[in-house]
Amino acid sequence: MSIQFKSITELNELLDNKAISASELNQESIQLAKKYSELNCFVTLNEENTKKKSAAIKRNQKNPSLLSGIPLAQKDLFCTEGLRTTCSSKILSNFIPPYTATAVEKLEGAGSITIGKTNMDEFAMGSSNETSFFGSVHNPWKKGFVPGGSSGGSAAAVAAGIVPAATGTDTGGSIRQPAAHCGITGLKPTYGRISRWGMIAFASSLDQAGPLARNAEDCAILLNSMSGYDSKDTTSLNSYVPNFLENINQSLKGKKIGIIKEFDLSDLDTEVQERFEESKNAYENLGAEFIEVSLPNISASVPTYYSIAPAECSSNLSRFDGVRFGYRAENTVDLNELYIKSRSEGFGDEVKRRILIGTYALSAGYYDAYYKKAQQVRRLIKNDFDNVFKSVDLLMTPTSPSTAFKFESKGTQNPVELYLEDLFTISANLAGLPAISIPHGQVNSLPVGLQLIGNFLREDLLLNAAHVFQKNSDFHHAKPNLEDFK
Ligand code: GLN
Repeated sequence: MSIQFKSITELNELLDNKAISASELNQESIQLAKKYSELNCFVTLNEENTKKKSAAIKRNQKNPSLLSGIPLAQKDLFCTEGLRTTCSSKILSNFIPPYTATAVEKLEGAGSITIGKTNMDEFAMGSSNETSFFGSVHNPWKKGFVPGGSSGGSAAAVAAGIVPAATGTDTGGSIRQPAAHCGITGLKPTYGRISRWGMIAFASSLDQAGPLARNAEDCAILLNSMSGYDSKDTTSLNSYVPNFLENINQSLKGKKIGIIKEFDLSDLDTEVQERFEESKNAYENLGAEFIEVSLPNISASVPTYYSIAPAECSSNLSRFDGVRFGYRAENTVDLNELYIKSRSEGFGDEVKRRILIGTYALSAGYYDAYYKKAQQVRRLIKNDFDNVFKSVDLLMTPTSPSTAFKFESKGTQNPVELYLEDLFTISANLAGLPAISIPHGQVNSLPVGLQLIGNFLREDLLLNAAHVFQKNSDFHHAKPNLEDFK
């Protein structure tokens, strides 16, 4: 029996009925990863360890952890002890961490098995997975099309049914946008909900880990394990973590959903607009009410993000100097040349562009004009959200302005073209809010995502709204035809 495309809940049933053992399940997952290697969604497979760990799984029959024996894939920016962690960069292409990121440690502690590390945009900078040192990832729905980014490998691995779920990180949309382009569900939690310890930093005030899975219920299962305070991350939240499965089935009757006036959807592909209208109707039929709301500063989100994120990245990436980790250039005459050559040879173009922009924005002469100003605008955006959440429970937008696009068709001449992909997702990161993307149909045989944004710490409500929608629709059951990738 094939385990491909099965959800965590379905796999649990197979394990409980002894229709399959944890060893067989994980072996099959590894086999699928190999069979579909052309997708290029894995940078490293964890074969030996998967064998050992899955053979040692003993499921507690009475009260099994819902992740016990479940194969997962981790985005290759979560440090994994003894397992290469590259951030899809040449500069870390030989880096083997001495410790494991808290988020992964918690998932493994619940019994899941890390079968491999997934391809991504280099240092999570990108929206198409094309900046990876290890090459582009194909969208399982169409060869030669991007899976979205930066968690493109994780999204493709889940969409291709290789693993039921995977981890991602979202600094400006990197869980939600690839989830949308690959037709799966992706949740970016509240900033601080999940520890960032052991996650290789891109922009520390925005980065947040989260799950990508076949449905909202499975996202809740992962979130239950990943969440919680961690003394090793000073920004991790010391607040109550509910059981996210508990209220996932609540009725949506009377829930108020805001539509953001400032987002002019008439610029989008008409079929993307149609999907959006249909989902609005679906939510109305489920009892929700729609209200038009205004976030007057939201149009400044993209430039604000693209000032703050590069500034933080230029500081975070200064640690990669050719001395302490990873790649070191050869034949250098002095220390300065060692730094310059290692970084010049080790980083790709997009990463260098961000470091340059960020260094400029933080320089003494321009700090006030760019970085400080961006932080001020960020506060205004956050205030706008605080204000609208006084009158609505959730906000709804498309996840992305378009469906997946062809390799090298966006951003090659002008990177801003790609930055605009993040139009709908970035503001949730600036405000630290949770948001989810769920599949809601297709346009030209490519999936389209619907985004819901929630108030601070209201992942429960997001998962509830997503789950009830999925219980009443079939979009999340659609599977790509993978014939072209065998
Ligand atoms: N696309 C955005 C960027 O390039 C967001 C990336 C992310 O969320 N990691 O920065």
